[in-house]
Amino acid sequence: MSTTVRVRCTDCAYEEAFDSLRRARTALEDHERETGHAADWEIGGLAPGVERAGDDAGVCGREGCANPDSPLLDHDPSAASDPSA
Ligand SMILES: [Zn+2]
Repeated sequence: MSTTVRVRCTDCAYEEAFDSLRRARTALEDHERETGHAADWEIGGLAPGVERAGDDAGVCGREGCANPDSPLLDHDPSAASDPSA
């Protein structure tokens, strides 16, 4: 599977494309650690939901594997509007 992952920094002109999610993630983390900047990434060729899940889960992108606090997950609506809160 060929995927283009673009890493872009919101605080400087840094921008680089990778063909691997793992390498893009490593580069992003390196840049943030080295500069203190906030970088972001963008995955080409994947549906937004998959991209988001892959970002959160870091592995397979399946809903069940995603972060519990991921905005991707559609939590029980009744829990979100808890009347006692
Ligand atoms: Zn930067």
